[in-house]
Amino acid sequence: MQNWIPKRHAVRRTSGGKFPRRHLALAASTLIALGLALLLLPGENAEAKRTAIPLNLELTPSRVGVSVSTHEEPPIEQEQAWKEIPVENGDSLSAIFSRASLSPQDLHELLTSSAKTKELNKIRPGQKLSFKIGDTGQLDAMSLQIDKLNSLVFERGVNGFTTTKLTATPEIRQRVASATITSSLYKAAQDAGVNQSIIMELANIFGGVLDFVYDVRKNDYFIVIYEELYLNGEMLGSGQILAAQYFNQGKSFEAYRYVNTQGEVDYFSENGESMRKAFLRAPLDFTRISSGFNPKRLHPVFKTVRPHRGVDYAAPRGTPVYAAGDGRVAAAGYSKANGNYVFIKHGEAYMTKYLHLHKRAVSKGDRVRQRETIGWVGSTGYATGPHLHYEFLLNGVHRNPATIVKQLPAPKKVAAGAMPEFKAQIAGMQLQLRTYAAQRSYTNGSDAG
Ligand SMILES: [Zn+2]
Repeated sequence: MQNWIPKRHAVRRTSGGKFPRRHLALAASTLIALGLALLLLPGENAEAKRTAIPLNLELTPSRVGVSVSTHEEPPIEQEQAWKEIPVENGDSLSAIFSRASLSPQDLHELLTSSAKTKELNKIRPGQKLSFKIGDTGQLDAMSLQIDKLNSLVFERGVNGFTTTKLTATPEIRQRVASATITSSLYKAAQDAGVNQSIIMELANIFGGVLDFVYDVRKNDYFIVIYEELYLNGEMLGSGQILAAQYFNQGKSFEAYRYVNTQGEVDYFSENGESMRKAFLRAPLDFTRISSGFNPKRLHPVFKTVRPHRGVDYAAPRGTPVYAAGDGRVAAAGYSKANGNYVFIKHGEAYMTKYLHLHKRAVSKGDRVRQRETIGWVGSTGYATGPHLHYEFLLNGVHRNPATIVKQLPAPKKVAAGAMPEFKAQIAGMQLQLRTYAAQRSYTNGSDAG
């Protein structure tokens, strides 16, 4: 299920934080109706926003043509139209200049008069160059479309060419996607049309509270509200995740993007606790683990028979292995049993170990940040197939980080004084999540948690 809700309207609608449950259905239908109405009728605001985008549209030949015809001037007066020349395979600037019937003298003048001409040495097939050629055939201006958002305009002035960089501001649209997990989070998100970068970001956000290899269950579901960037109706890519909720085995985890007064951005639970925990629950890129539910993978971690004291993550060779938390590499080497291994010390009390790596990416003494790649999954040492053997130790004793939550370093919290502002900032998103969750339980008849 996917729905579109234009951002400013959705935000404006949500003044209160909490909604009595019986009002949810009404709120849901109103919100959705409003969303649909706005979707069908792009209002004046949308129009105004579109024209406010500083594009180099007026530089294109078609636009010039339009303005000429509205003034009903004879076409013969239309001088200095832009001539667009696409960059082709193996193209050079001099070849393009010759195709545009411009002299080598023009090229020389252009290249020697502006510091920004370095960009011109990097032209790639698919980019577009536009030329404005004067009465006497000399180059008056040139525009290089660097990518969909950026272009450079070189204009002849008194002292050679001046350079202006034009950057278009994409329109930000909000999108809500939700999906029920049938095999894996990755598959469910893909099926819901959520692109890879958003899936990765979703996994990052919940990576401190959920192990996406072992915790995920059939019928878990998630709702994610995120931004998509558009220019002239074309989607350029995705922006930020604004809020997300993950329902796991009857428990719900919420995360909200919050910008504090210092401008720092982080994701917090509804209670103002940072989603960024001291340790990742699964220290590897789970999106590379393509197999779905395997009952054998659902065994409770750290409950396996000794001497095997750790978690095994079967994953393809080459899957990036991350540092579970910030720390310092205490050991990195090779042994007959462990194969390539990395041990990381986190403060005084904690140690994490990563065995059977195909390759190591760090050395003893290196400082590492959480989620930094420290190696890649392999099958070196006593390993029957590619997998990561991961151990978590507290004061030298193997522990399951999922069951000793209270002994783990406390996550950052929103300052008590900033809580009212935090609550106000997330209220709109919270309502949207509640609305979607209510709608889902209404349409599916299942427990929304
Ligand atoms: Zn193992």
